Amino acid sequence: GGHVRFDDVVFGYEPDRPILKGLTLDVPAGTTCAVVGPSGAGKSTLARLLYRFYDVNQGAITIDGQPVARVAQDSLRAAIGIVPQDTVLFNDTIGYNIAYGREGAGEAEVERAAKGAAIADFIERQPQGYATRVGERGLKLSGGEKQRVAIARTLLKNPPILILDEATSALDSRTEADILATLQAIERGRTTLVIAHRLSTIVHADQIVVLDGGRVAERGTHGELLARG
Ligand code: ADP
Ligand code: ADP
Repeated sequence: GGHVRFDDVVFGYEPDRPILKGLTLDVPAGTTCAVVGPSGAGKSTLARLLYRFYDVNQGAITIDGQPVARVAQDSLRAAIGIVPQDTVLFNDTIGYNIAYGREGAGEAEVERAAKGAAIADFIERQPQGYATRVGERGLKLSGGEKQRVAIARTLLKNPPILILDEATSALDSRTEADILATLQAIERGRTTLVIAHRLSTIVHADQIVVLDGGRVAERGTHGELLARG
């Protein structure tokens, strides 16, 4: 499962100032849809609507035909994993940060997730391993390492739907390239919305939609959009 549809969605944070003005998006289960567009176009907003931080004013968002407005909040949260631009970690252990939200997870599961996020070796090199504290009173992690912890947390959750909201935008280009490879591996088999602003980071997407003026201004594959200029 994990077929995501936005049907003619209208939404504004203030009812008289719509941000999305009739957005239609169809993301078949297991495919990757990239969403690009100028800053302020509403890219993060559509991710928040899927996660139901806000409700649409008109239209509908469905997962496998079920309106998100009728899905229980905990099922929705379990179905969707989000990797944000800047992951803020808790001042706690690396293990706690990976297992957050899945507190019952066993060590083997946590380690498997860390491997999938390519952060396991780094953790194992720390004197206290998974019990190493991070943040102000512990190890300082780089931006890329923090993103890998966020990816490990998402892998542990194992959601059918992924939202990558500018997940690599704050990284230098070399770290970005490394993390993109990891992200593309975890996208496999999941319905993924990639919010990005550099076309070069979404060459692999099954479809790219360009958001502008509250609507889909263009859609196509990377090659099709390049050919159109
Ligand atoms: P993008 O991700 O494409 O840069 P956003 O979805 O973050 O765009 O924002 C779309 C518009 O909505 C912007 O004009 C922004 O200022 C506005 N906006 C975003 N979040 C809020 C909020 N919580 N309250 C009011 N306006 C908001
Ligand atoms: P707690 O004391 O609540 O177990 P920890 O910070 O030690 O807190 O662990 C938090 C999470 O990290 C737990 O889900 C645990 O399974 C995992 N964890 C702890 N140690 C390891 C380890 N050596 N390898 C993998 N995962 C670990």
